[in-house]
Amino acid sequence: MSDSVLVYKGSELASYGFGDPHPFGFDRHDVFQRELVKAGLDTQLEFARPRQASVDELLLFHTADYIDMVSRKSSEGRGYLDDGDTPAMPGIFDAASVVVGTTLAAVDAIMAGSCKRAFVPIAGLHHAARDRAAGFCVFNDCGVAVEYLRKNYGISRVAYVDIDAHHGDGVFYGFEDDPDLIFADVHEDGRYLYPGTGAAEETGKGPARGTKLNIPIAPGAVDSDFYREWERVEQYLEEAKPEFILFQGGADSLEGDPITHLCYTEEAHARAAAALCRIADKHCEGRIVGTGGGGYNRDNLARAWTRIVQSFVAAG
Ligand SMILES: [Zn+2]
Repeated sequence: MSDSVLVYKGSELASYGFGDPHPFGFDRHDVFQRELVKAGLDTQLEFARPRQASVDELLLFHTADYIDMVSRKSSEGRGYLDDGDTPAMPGIFDAASVVVGTTLAAVDAIMAGSCKRAFVPIAGLHHAARDRAAGFCVFNDCGVAVEYLRKNYGISRVAYVDIDAHHGDGVFYGFEDDPDLIFADVHEDGRYLYPGTGAAEETGKGPARGTKLNIPIAPGAVDSDFYREWERVEQYLEEAKPEFILFQGGADSLEGDPITHLCYTEEAHARAAAALCRIADKHCEGRIVGTGGGGYNRDNLARAWTRIVQSFVAAG
């Protein structure tokens, strides 16, 4: 198996966004790629091209009616896919399918042994539900990846770990009654931030009751607050013994994000990524896919995502 780290790069991936003045602009991909070069990491990585997901792949997580609706609205190219957060941009169907396809390509590359870890900027669209768009997220690439790992590789114990400022509600509720989806999410307390969910008492439903970890954190939380909670995430993952880790490393939990109120530095992302690599090495044959998630202050997202990649490289 190759020990290399793969980063996905390409205009098809950059085309997922909503243009000015929407916070999820088209420039986020390039800002990150430039920072990788500035940090000297581009020479220590391999790059791979995005690919588009097929409708059959989208159907692993999403409903047929919802996929049809996105396709229709994408052709019309006006209005919103939800209540006003996620514009129906012309071509958004293809762009959102590329985000999903690229996360699946990262899964395939790791499962084929052509790399050990992979990072997909722009992906980690954690608010999209099985049957609706939400919070800038059209298709839920991580949700599809969980089902894809099960169907194509027989891997059922997937851990989804999310440090974006927002709760990963699309993933959480998509697998709320599924005891095999290992879920840990540290996010700004839902009383103060969209989407308002993810209370500590939300631990799963039915057969999954008591199996999931939601950790709301107060507005203004700094790195030391995060590290205190993060210890619980590590302990939880050690006990859960996942076979594959999907990491949503949203950079909107850094101080200065225009739409959230957390105050971490990029060290939080570096440390979380390093810890996840250790846990992946112990339980998952090293297998981890990182996704960029949110982050609307451009300097913050560039630094936080770059530090995640740096931790992946340093972990060997
Ligand atoms: Zn977010």
